Amino acid sequence: MGFWPTWKVSSIFAVTPAQLQARGKKYVLTDLDNTLIPWNQKDALDQVRTWASTLAKQGIQVIVVSNNNHHRVAEALADLPIQFVARALKPLPVGIKRALKEFRIDASEAVMVGDQFFTDVLAGSLAGVDTILVAPLVDTDGWNTRINRLLEKPLRHLIRVHDWTKPWSSENHEKFR
Ligand SMILES: [Mg+2]
Repeated sequence: MGFWPTWKVSSIFAVTPAQLQARGKKYVLTDLDNTLIPWNQKDALDQVRTWASTLAKQGIQVIVVSNNNHHRVAEALADLPIQFVARALKPLPVGIKRALKEFRIDASEAVMVGDQFFTDVLAGSLAGVDTILVAPLVDTDGWNTRINRLLEKPLRHLIRVHDWTKPWSSENHEKFR
């Protein structure tokens, strides 16, 4: 099950420093749209700020790895102390590998979090990084993501009902869909 998500979690905001530390993770690489910020609400940043600073206090760094261009990612993260890699070309592993190299991260210390199997999880697996598949923050998507979602539907069903992907913790996987 090399390409399967390592873990499944309802939301990235349910991921705590203690849970990350228990698995030796010091870096959270994350998708932007619908994982960290709802794709249609670019200003919903308070939750992100609070969550990232909780992690930072425990020495865990959050780095966004997005397929969007530099300008759009920089704009979305403008007021946040979060570094990023843009034009990541997920599902290719190049963007994640660039992040590992740029921030001098050992792949074993990182986890890649995302709401899409065919971009985020695949890219993480190909880069040799453990992955967490999360439920998308909002149900509706832009048109290009809708096509991906159709392809993902049967897969997400499998991920939901089978134990190949272990829940990250007992509390926060119930809402996974
Ligand atoms: Mg996404």
